[in-house]
Amino acid sequence: MFGSFDEALDFCNEQAIRMIDFKIIDLLGRWHHLSIPLGRFKPEILEYGIGFDGSNYGFAPVENSDMVFIPDLSTAVYDPFTAVPTLSMIGDIFVIAQPDNYRFDQDPRSIAVKAEEYMKSTGIADEMRIGPEFEFHVFDHVSYECSPQKSGFTIDAKQAIWNSGDNEKQNLGYKIPANGGYHVAPPQDILYDLRARMCLLMEENKIPVKYHHHEVGGPGQIEIEVEFGPLREMADRTMLAKYLIKNLAFQEGKTVTFMPKPIFAEAGNGMHVHMHLFKNGEPLFYDASGYSNLSQLALNFIGGILQHAPALLAFTNPSTNSYKRLIPGYEAPVSVCFATANRSAVIRVPAYAKSPYHKRFEFRSSDATCNPYLAYSAILMAGLDGVQKKIDPVAAGFGPYDMNLYNLSPEKQAQIKSLPRSLDEALDALEKDYEFLLPGGVFPRRLIEIWIENKRKEARKVNEIPHPMEFELYYDL
Ligand code: GLU
Ligand code: MG
Ligand code: MG
Repeated sequence: MFGSFDEALDFCNEQAIRMIDFKIIDLLGRWHHLSIPLGRFKPEILEYGIGFDGSNYGFAPVENSDMVFIPDLSTAVYDPFTAVPTLSMIGDIFVIAQPDNYRFDQDPRSIAVKAEEYMKSTGIADEMRIGPEFEFHVFDHVSYECSPQKSGFTIDAKQAIWNSGDNEKQNLGYKIPANGGYHVAPPQDILYDLRARMCLLMEENKIPVKYHHHEVGGPGQIEIEVEFGPLREMADRTMLAKYLIKNLAFQEGKTVTFMPKPIFAEAGNGMHVHMHLFKNGEPLFYDASGYSNLSQLALNFIGGILQHAPALLAFTNPSTNSYKRLIPGYEAPVSVCFATANRSAVIRVPAYAKSPYHKRFEFRSSDATCNPYLAYSAILMAGLDGVQKKIDPVAAGFGPYDMNLYNLSPEKQAQIKSLPRSLDEALDALEKDYEFLLPGGVFPRRLIEIWIENKRKEARKVNEIPHPMEFELYYDL
């Protein structure tokens, strides 16, 4: 928002700002924050930064663990949720060194910057534009802890787990049945106002919204799609959008979850990522004579993403819950392939995006439990590798498969590679296939190692806990 310290300070004085708040991302993709009274906000901060203990942020230790963050004034926004007037901005992480501090190579934001620089250095493209789709559930904050029947507003998460499937037998009145929420109108769409307010807040904070609607899952699943933006900026916007969405819901006595599969037997929450490349302002993905009007470069980019998809999922689908979503039957992808207008393929080329400027495809696997800086950067690195190695997705057997991939014969299914079925499988793949992330120093090896270490721990923890369903299956055996 601001180009200089003085501009920021003028704004603070005009708006009677009392606190400056800094948001710093951790390894896994959560914002932490630290605040200073306005009187401590000095130009030196932009040079020397503010010290903090980086060891609590999950990154791999570096020799010198004393760190500072330096605020990026261009990200400043007025925080709409605090009673105390607060200006909030993102901090970049630096390692303290002589003679000069240097940018921490594991800071996810710096990885996104390096990925963009690397793309330019290859000469392939100078801009990657990304459009994520946010799907999420709104749960009633109060009924989460007690009976869902009382609220009648959104559904109760715990109840939903055991309740799905029986809805046809009941007279639901205006309540949305399981998997029956796609584009429902009021009065069923009781979340319209909340969702519209979320979108207006996003727009006020320079996150242009494409559209919003109720999603196909039962009551409470909604979707907001945003307009495209450059990679690093879109990762910033992803963090901010999630912050605004969660906090507005919270203010209204509700909670939002982006968990990929919060409810058994209901549609899950994806974060499909649309993308296209540009050079000198010219779109690179269009060719009238190519498959689905895609250029050779776009096809090679797709080839790279599909080639590295199993490893890529360790960054784009990095939770144990991610793999409960990636199952047949819910418009989530299960196979490593591409197709036009096919929601069961991991790469879908939307049929409606026809003009050269809009020509693009979407990666449908990703979900919002990712760290968006790492996920978007990893997707770019996989695609660039495909362009450099001229990976032809057709020759490599990735399709196009313009058919419903959920209903394939066993023979056909055997020909198409499946996406990893668990977080551990994705991590196994990343352990074997990470070289594509290294060029240009984009992903430091230590970051990949610590990521795998962290995520293995999460998977182990979930595996070790007896599951409620195990009691049903095995208790009396
Ligand atoms: N919710 C589905 C998913 O998990 C996607 C539905 C859609 O195509 O918008 O990916
Ligand atoms: Mg959508
Ligand atoms: Mg959707």
